[in-house]
Amino acid sequence: MSHKHIKRASDKSDATVAEAGASRKPRGGRNPDAIPGLVTVVPGRAFDLAEVDTRADGGLDKAAAGPALAEARARIAALQERLYAEHRRSLLVVFQAIDTGGKDGTIRAVFEGVNPQGCRVWPFKVPSAEEADHDFLWRYHAKTPGRGMIGVFNRSHYEDVLVVRVKDLVPEPVWRARYDQINAFEAMLTASGTTILKFFLHISKAEQKERLEARIATPEKHWKFDAADLVERESWDAYQAAFAEALTRCSTPQAPWHVVPADRKWYRNLLVARAIADTLEAMDPRFPEAQPGVAGTIVPG
Ligand code: AMP
Ligand code: MG
Repeated sequence: MSHKHIKRASDKSDATVAEAGASRKPRGGRNPDAIPGLVTVVPGRAFDLAEVDTRADGGLDKAAAGPALAEARARIAALQERLYAEHRRSLLVVFQAIDTGGKDGTIRAVFEGVNPQGCRVWPFKVPSAEEADHDFLWRYHAKTPGRGMIGVFNRSHYEDVLVVRVKDLVPEPVWRARYDQINAFEAMLTASGTTILKFFLHISKAEQKERLEARIATPEKHWKFDAADLVERESWDAYQAAFAEALTRCSTPQAPWHVVPADRKWYRNLLVARAIADTLEAMDPRFPEAQPGVAGTIVPG
């Protein structure tokens, strides 16, 4: 697989960068595709996850990342207030990763300080009996963010082409049809005013081993340890193949996938926070017009 198949936002000389950049229409702010460090999957091109260095740190160090994360969080908080006040559009942030990949930690770090009234996080587990009685998108659609809201999916509709594929939970023609169904679903959401940001937190197999061992060695982390994760780990290669195909098939101009080098938690958090802040900036939400004559109105005593 050639490097041309991946868009590295930091490499401005790569023709594919311009191509992908042109496919989005930034309004006002920075182009969300031009986020240094993130690897954005170019729509319509085959893509190889093994080409992405999970240990990348962008040449930064952890000490410098702290203030940079705080700055990005402050931008998110300020823009979220505008989004909420504007009450016209919404942002959906999707997180996918292998077990221990850092979805929970990223959500905790990135959304700290955001007004909880304007942000909802939805984790998706094994479907309930009622959910399983419906089409696969039903439970996700019910949780998409309404006007003014930021919605965060901790796992998502992509599980239905990931775990479902790896564990053979439905016949192949059924999950194969879902890539197009997911693209149609996301296109419909986009057309309805929802901006979609999709992050794949990419860790190495060695890093997963360390994180599982840390869960075993630390009593406060025991609750997070699930022996089933060891069984899933045996399917590491099948999961990587399933992730690669989902990222390739479902990276669209409106809703591209962003691969986040995620072995270093502080770098992962910074990249995701910046991407969210940049995306909100590009959306450029505005406070609504005040009613005529508000300024100068005298409140009677
Ligand atoms: P966790 O996120 O660690 O609490 O685990 C949630 C579990 O639910 C994971 O093992 C997922 O693979 C599983 N899961 C999530 N969505 C689905 C789905 N649509 N079908 C089957 N299993 C799922
Ligand atoms: Mg788990």
